[in-house]
Amino acid sequence: MKTSSQQPTRFHNLDASKEWTTADADEIYQISRWGENYFSVNNKGDLCVNPTQTNNGPVINMMEIVEEMKNKGISFPAVIRFHDILRSQVANLNKTFRSLIEEAKFTGSYYGVYPIKVNQMREVVEEIVDAGAPFNYGLEAGSKPELLAALAMNSNQNSLTVINGYKDLDLLRLALLGNQLGRKVIVVVEKYSELTDLMKLSQEIGVEPMIGLRAKIATKSSGKWASSGGDYAKFGLTITEILQAVKYMKSIGKEHCLKLFHFHIGSQIPDLRTIKDSISEGARIYAKLYKEGAKLEYFDVGGGVGVNYDGTRSNSPSSINYTTRDYVADVVYILKQVCDLEDVPHPNIVSESGRAITAHHSCVITNVFGALEIGAADNFNTDKAIHENILVTNMRDLSTDLNAKNYQDVYNDATKLKEESISAFKFGILSLDERAKLETLYWRICKKITQFASLDEYASDEILALKSQMASQYMCNFSIFQSAPDTWAIGQILPVLPIHKLNEKPTELATLVDITCDSDGKVDTFLSPDGPTNTLPMHKLNGDDYYIGLFMTGAYQDIMGDNHNCFGRLNEVHIFADDDDPTDFYIEEVIMGNKASQVLSTLQYNPETMAQTVKASIDTQVKRGKIRPREGVDLTDFYESCLKSYTYLKK
Ligand SMILES: *Cc1c(COP(=O)(O)O)cnc(C)c1O
Repeated sequence: MKTSSQQPTRFHNLDASKEWTTADADEIYQISRWGENYFSVNNKGDLCVNPTQTNNGPVINMMEIVEEMKNKGISFPAVIRFHDILRSQVANLNKTFRSLIEEAKFTGSYYGVYPIKVNQMREVVEEIVDAGAPFNYGLEAGSKPELLAALAMNSNQNSLTVINGYKDLDLLRLALLGNQLGRKVIVVVEKYSELTDLMKLSQEIGVEPMIGLRAKIATKSSGKWASSGGDYAKFGLTITEILQAVKYMKSIGKEHCLKLFHFHIGSQIPDLRTIKDSISEGARIYAKLYKEGAKLEYFDVGGGVGVNYDGTRSNSPSSINYTTRDYVADVVYILKQVCDLEDVPHPNIVSESGRAITAHHSCVITNVFGALEIGAADNFNTDKAIHENILVTNMRDLSTDLNAKNYQDVYNDATKLKEESISAFKFGILSLDERAKLETLYWRICKKITQFASLDEYASDEILALKSQMASQYMCNFSIFQSAPDTWAIGQILPVLPIHKLNEKPTELATLVDITCDSDGKVDTFLSPDGPTNTLPMHKLNGDDYYIGLFMTGAYQDIMGDNHNCFGRLNEVHIFADDDDPTDFYIEEVIMGNKASQVLSTLQYNPETMAQTVKASIDTQVKRGKIRPREGVDLTDFYESCLKSYTYLKK
C-alpha cells in the first residue's frame, strides 16, 4: 500500500566526532518545530510537556506519568491526553480572532465551532465546550449521532451549533428541536432538496429554522484533501443552486431564515495562498448574496487549518506554511476589505477548525520489546569447506578484501554474486548449507559497508539506501490501524521519538513495526531536519524499558482507529497540570482499554459461550485421561482470564 520514496538522510548530529546534547535531540526529532512550545526536553533527557507553552508554568515530565501509570497497573500501549493543551488551543484560537477583529476594526464577532468528527470522545468535547464557554464557542455536527451529542453538550444559547453533511428528515427534525430549545442551531444545506424538506418540516412544526448555504467554491486546496473543493466536490450547492435557493426563500417570504454562508475546501490546507483565495472568493459571493436580499449574518470559512506534523513549516502535505495568527489575519482583513468594497455589513465570522484544536493534545506511548535485524544470525559457521562451491569462495574473498576505500566496488560485486547464487541454487549446483554460508557472508559485508559509509561524507545514495534497508525494525507494542491510521492510509507523517534518554546519542537507525499480522503495520517515514526520511535514530536496546511516543494523534487518529487483528481501544489517562503538586500534574481519569471479550463481542462472539465450549473440550480431555483434573481447572481459568484481559502484549 505504502511506498517509501524518500531520500535517505544523513543525520549530522550523529557523527562520531560530535558530542551530543539535548539540543541535538530537539533538532533530530524537530520537537520545537512541531511542538508549538508544548514540548521540551529536560536535562535528564526526559520529554516534558509545558501546558502554558512557556517554562514559567508547570512542567510535566512524561516519564513521571509513565512511572505513575506503572504504579497504578495501567499497561502500555496507552493514550495520554493533556487536557490543558486542549484548553489552551481553544483559548488561543478565540483570542487570536478577538484581537485581530479589534485591530482591524471589524464590526462582526467571532463564533467558532468545534467539529465533533475530529475527536468525538465525550471528555474531549466536554473540555472544549467548557474552555470555549467564555468565547461562545460552539459545536459542529456532521451526522445524526453527532447532532444528538451536540444537542446534549452545547446548551449555551449564545453559541452556534452548525450541522453539515447529508441530512434525512429525522436529522432535520432534531435540528428544529434545537431551535425549539432556544439554541442557535444552523442547518447548512448541502444539497438543494434539504432546503425544501426543511421548510416543509418547519412549517408543520411551527418553528423557524436557521439556514446555512454551503457553496462549492472554485478555489481548490492542494495536499491530501484537494477534492473537497472545486466543481466536483461531494458537498455544497453550485452558484446557480444558491441563487435559486435565495429566490425560493424570497418567494415564500422566508429569506430572513438564511443566516449563514459556508464553504470548506478541505483539511490540512498546506498553503496560506489557497486560504487567501478562498476567503476572497467566498467574501464576494457573500456580498452578492447580501445584495440579492439574503441578509446573511454569519460567514463560515469551514475547517482546514493545518498543523505542522513534519516540522518543516513548508507547504508539503504534512506541514503548513503559516501560523494561526497569519490565518486569522487573512480571514479578518480580506473579508473586511471585500465587504467594504462591496458596501455590505461585516458579518460574524465562524470557523470550524478541528485538527488545529485537537492534534497536539494526545499521544500514544508504547514500549519497544525487541528488534529485528537483518543478518543478525552472524554466528553461522562460514569456514572454508573442501570442494566448496566457487561462489562461496568468491564471497569470502570479497569479505576479506573489503576496506574503507573499495567498499563501493565490493558492494557491486557482492550483490551480483548473491544474485548468481540464487540461480545456482535453483539449478541444484549450490547446496542449502552453501547458500546459508554465502548469505551470511553477504550480510556481514553489507553491515561493514554501512559502517564505512557512515564515516564517508561522499557515500552514494545507493549505499545510504542500503543503510535504511538494513535498519533494525523496532517491534512496538501497538497497532497503527488502531492508533495512527493516517500513517498507513494516506502516508501522513507523525512525530515519533523516544520519551527518555534524549541526553544520550542514539546509535541505531530503525523503522518501527507494530504487532498486527499485517506487513503494512509499520512506520517507516519520519520527520528529520532535512525532510522526510526512512529511518529514525533510536537508542540501542539493552533490556531496560524503552518507551517511545507517537505525537499529535489527537485529531482523527484517536477516533478513526479500528480493531484490525482484534487489537482494541487503548488504555487512556487524562492529565491535568497542577503547579502545586510536586510532579506538576495529576491523573484525573483512567479509562481502561478494551478487553479481548469486548472486542470479540462487537464481532458477534459470545465470550461466555466461548468459555463454556473450551471448558467442555478440556473436561473431555480430562475424562480421557489426557489432561490431569487440576491442570484442567488451571487451563479453564487461564482461558477465561485471557478473555478478560487487555488485547495488547503483556510486558
Ligand atoms: C472535517 C470538517 C471540518 C474540520 O476540518 P479540519 O481540517 O479538521 O479543521 C470542518 N468543517 C467541515 C464541513 C468538515 O467536513
